[in-house]
Amino acid sequence: METRRLGELLRAEGLIADRDLSSALTLQTEIGGRLGGLLLRLGAVAEADLLAVLSRQLDVPVLPAEARPTAQAVEAFLADAGPRIWWADREAVAWRGAEGRLFCAALDPLAPLLRERLAQLTDEPVAYHLASRAFIDGFRPGATAGLEHGATSDAARLRELALEAPVIDFVNGLFAEALNRRASDVHLEPFERRFVVRMRIDGQLVDMRAGPRADFDAVCSRIKLLSGMDIGERRLPQDGRQSIRVAGQELDLRVSTLPSAWGESLVLRLLGKSSRLQTLAELGLDADRAHRLVAMVEKPNGVVLVSGPTGSGKTTTIYRLLTHLHNGARKIVTIEDPIEFDLPGVVQVQARGDIGLTFAAGLRSILRQDPDVIMVGEIRDPETARIAIQAALTGHMVISTVHTNSALAAVARLKDLGVEGFLLADVVRGVVGQRLARRLCVHCTRPSDPAQAAVHERAAAEWGVVTADEPGRWAEPVGCERCAGTGYLGRFGLYEIADGDAALERCIRDGADEAAMERAARRRGFINLFEDGVAKARLGLTTLAEISRIAAPAETPLETA
Ligand SMILES: [Zn+2]
Repeated sequence: METRRLGELLRAEGLIADRDLSSALTLQTEIGGRLGGLLLRLGAVAEADLLAVLSRQLDVPVLPAEARPTAQAVEAFLADAGPRIWWADREAVAWRGAEGRLFCAALDPLAPLLRERLAQLTDEPVAYHLASRAFIDGFRPGATAGLEHGATSDAARLRELALEAPVIDFVNGLFAEALNRRASDVHLEPFERRFVVRMRIDGQLVDMRAGPRADFDAVCSRIKLLSGMDIGERRLPQDGRQSIRVAGQELDLRVSTLPSAWGESLVLRLLGKSSRLQTLAELGLDADRAHRLVAMVEKPNGVVLVSGPTGSGKTTTIYRLLTHLHNGARKIVTIEDPIEFDLPGVVQVQARGDIGLTFAAGLRSILRQDPDVIMVGEIRDPETARIAIQAALTGHMVISTVHTNSALAAVARLKDLGVEGFLLADVVRGVVGQRLARRLCVHCTRPSDPAQAAVHERAAAEWGVVTADEPGRWAEPVGCERCAGTGYLGRFGLYEIADGDAALERCIRDGADEAAMERAARRRGFINLFEDGVAKARLGLTTLAEISRIAAPAETPLETA
């Protein structure tokens, strides 16, 4: 086998220009991928030349034209060889030739996963070959056109579109902009004549740009290609994920497609793995409540539940608590979907429903790993609830989230999932409710004028959130360059926290309703999300309008103007 690198070999043969090689290497550090594929994308080398050189470098023959299989032969073999998408993802096909010999053709016939799979399927020797992308693509699920001749299929056409430089630039530009704007999601929506790009920033969707509908297929294919989806499948929803690098940052890209009237609607979620985790104080907890929260999870066993809708910052709070618990003396294991953050020293498991690794199954396996602290992404089914409570009863600290509107509703939620009240009463160490409120932009906010402040102060007094000793520092949004004119920049948490003390334990055991539990908790200083929000608006961190939007209790009439 040739030991020189592919780039050197191609250059030695005069098949590529130095300039092209260095652009391909740059592209490789930016977006990853194999050098050969990148050179093809740049149009720097002919595919036949590349295959010939690769063949010598890898010591694997190129599939000769006369050995090409029929579609039926491939279909017959792959039908029994696992999911078609697996083969498509490995960019490989396999079949039994006319004399019964086993063939495998691939863009990377040395790939260990491919070799392992075939070794599992058969003991026979396999004739490995290199093949062109057009040839492999012809066998992708959903591809139809003239397979034997390697003619361009729909998938191949889309793939070509996705590899055009302006398309690559457009998509890379989107990622960079999303990072720059701290967007959590990017939405691409096709309509009859144009497509629209919107980004979710601090929880709000913002229009970013639009383009002609004619350009959409290429952009869509590019994103599907990057996230490892089947490019040829355009009629069914798909999910994909991939680690990518944007502007020197490692990002976890998750994409879902939804076929709509004018094309596939795409939503991209960008999870920055290297961004910094906020402290409890930055998250909006004063020292006293932060201390209580930490004390809850430091108990040797039990359950702590954090509730709130999607995007309310529950996971960030839990991650922060886990980093606090990580002291080298505790074994901490999580099962999550998705893993939003890399926590050093914590064993994090990605739940995968499609292969049976559900929260419940993951939890069962984790319990065999002798953990001290377990984080379960969400308790949403009776089985997970049962195992989580069992784990708490047998000496583990279990931290999880539930989808309820208030902290104390978490109790009823677990009972709905079949947990007995007396067991729950034994293990609940605390319940926490959380929302995220937008923070007034520090660069442009201004104090409310005295008349306005007086109105706010009266409203806050009516809600019982005024302490006599200190005047309110009410403020208003203005809007500047840095906050894109919105007046808000960044978010912080609103919290309601009920300790799992003797009073709460008694309430749960006696089957008290949420109102009765709240009355009991209030005697020990409980304040709800709305009251926490109003207190923070009073400190000038945000506005009453923002608090009413995200945390107004249903029965509170809000007249803040
Ligand atoms: Zn501003």
